[in-house]
Amino acid sequence: MEKVIVEGNCANAGQEFHGQIEIIGGVIARVGKKLGKADHVFDDNHLIFPGMGDIHIHAREDEAGTQSYKEDYGTVTAAAINGGVVQVAAMPNTPQPLITDERLAWHRNRCKDLPVSFVHYAGIGPGTRPLKAHVPYKVYTGPSIGPLFFRSERELRQALQHYKGKPVSFHVEDYGVLVKNGGRPTHDKRRPVECVEAALGYVLQMIEEFGLDAKLCHWPCGGKSFGMIRRHRKRGFRTTIEVSPLHLYFDTDMLGKKPELWPYVQMNPALQGKRHRLQLIKALKEGFIDFLATDHAPHTLDEKFRNFGGEKEYLRLLKSDIARCRELSCRNGTSGTTQLDTYALLAAWLMEEHGFTPKDIARVACENPGKFANRFHAGKGKFGRIAPGYYGSLTVLNMKKPTTVTRQMLRTKSKWSPYEGITFPGSVAMVMIKGKPVKPRKNL
Ligand SMILES: [Zn+2]
Repeated sequence: MEKVIVEGNCANAGQEFHGQIEIIGGVIARVGKKLGKADHVFDDNHLIFPGMGDIHIHAREDEAGTQSYKEDYGTVTAAAINGGVVQVAAMPNTPQPLITDERLAWHRNRCKDLPVSFVHYAGIGPGTRPLKAHVPYKVYTGPSIGPLFFRSERELRQALQHYKGKPVSFHVEDYGVLVKNGGRPTHDKRRPVECVEAALGYVLQMIEEFGLDAKLCHWPCGGKSFGMIRRHRKRGFRTTIEVSPLHLYFDTDMLGKKPELWPYVQMNPALQGKRHRLQLIKALKEGFIDFLATDHAPHTLDEKFRNFGGEKEYLRLLKSDIARCRELSCRNGTSGTTQLDTYALLAAWLMEEHGFTPKDIARVACENPGKFANRFHAGKGKFGRIAPGYYGSLTVLNMKKPTTVTRQMLRTKSKWSPYEGITFPGSVAMVMIKGKPVKPRKNL
């Protein structure tokens, strides 16, 4: 069996060490000192992490292929590798939603030979039932992208009673509050914090009532919601929480000064003020929030700039009529941003700008996502740590080589990023998957 040795400064959740990693047949056999002549040696500018995992992405491809123009499993795999990510979990709200075992089999078969490992969520919508396969589930309490959502608490309860004890991830926004605020001037006011808090109230109640193994997706705010979750956990429920890099990097205080940025950063739930953003960063660092998960949502620029008739017209107005440009930017556009290509860059930024240790990053970007995914994979190894029995999948960052995000470097098929023009304080030096260094290619 093929053997490879990697050497350098390594980080696990709760542990940092300098040493060697011996990988045999794709799985880590030994970790230690002087195991042999190293095939890859990384100097002190580098950090070796367990392969990173993004447990909330949208790949857009399904049997009908009607949205493969914006992303498919091949391009999303290339974007993941580009962003230092070796395992992902894909959401079910494709045009033909993944809600049956037959459709699950199609998606699994499509992904089985790709270097990045996929877990597929199954959707919960009005009238759905659990699959035979062991999968995580996703439920949308309010409308976002796609047809799977609930209009009332009653409807949601009727569906969830069939999923007792199951792993269920929640998109938490209340339909009623959304409708009430639909006419307001900016995305954060149309989808205010109260919309999350209102839904969280009944979501936590249902998690407790049905004993769900729950996860809250892309958490957008601190404040009252943290208190509600803290009290829920004190009652014995270990509901986990994701946060998207977008909610850590941008806030509405920035957008107040530059409202023309809205089309690039519109996502659901909406960005909120700086106070919320800083609370999210602190909560991720301290372990209250469990996962760095992007919600990678690859819409095309034409879709993002539909109020303008395309990005070209937006750029023209930006120069010639900033008032009109801002007015159109604040209108409701298409929600969702591409973020897989930049996953590891945001991890570097959290270390450099917000005092995350390599151990913190290993916890939120490697070990916790690994623990989530390992329950649904049947392979011979595990994801999330540099330790014997885990996959020889590694994400190596060069913390002395900054990266400026450009459209050209992206591998997502939708070819844009909310971080374009921003310089991050690190770069991806190598991604190794099951003992093999991989390069992001366009078509897999
Ligand atoms: Zn999502």
